[in-house]
Amino acid sequence: MVDLRDRTYCKRHPQTVSYLGCSRCGDLICGECMIQTPVGARCPDHGAEMRNPMTQASGAEMTRALVAGIGSSILLHLVFIVMLNALGRVGLFLGFVAPLAIGYLVGEAVYRASGYTRNKNLAWAAAGSVFLGLVIVSALFDVRSVSTFGILIGMYLAYKRVSP
Ligand SMILES: [Zn+2]
Ligand SMILES: [Zn+2]
Repeated sequence: MVDLRDRTYCKRHPQTVSYLGCSRCGDLICGECMIQTPVGARCPDHGAEMRNPMTQASGAEMTRALVAGIGSSILLHLVFIVMLNALGRVGLFLGFVAPLAIGYLVGEAVYRASGYTRNKNLAWAAAGSVFLGLVIVSALFDVRSVSTFGILIGMYLAYKRVSP
């Protein structure tokens, strides 16, 4: 026998019996209005505020993405500059092509570190990382024949990799 005295109803659908509360505010919700989220069923007010993991990165993911972006950028630029200075004339070609590869790889690093997230902030972080890596490395080493055009395209590629 079901005890009818304890019967409770959905806050938004007073005709519908419900025993399930929103995991945030506790309001009773029914199958019609509840929203399933990674932290449980929620009412319409609190289900929508859940972040979309495809476009929003948490603070930790954002930090990780920045560290990965700047770290990979410095590392790649170091390798690039050492090769460029060792190669001499051939370096002119490398001076244009390498920034493109670096841009793409830095974008990839940011994309992975952020938990495969794409958004405008990450895109700017990726492009900024490409630039910052070059600035830091060129402050430590004598940088020759790096194509400004190549760097701009590299930054664009990094940007595009994680832009929505
Ligand atoms: Zn709620
Ligand atoms: Zn309802």
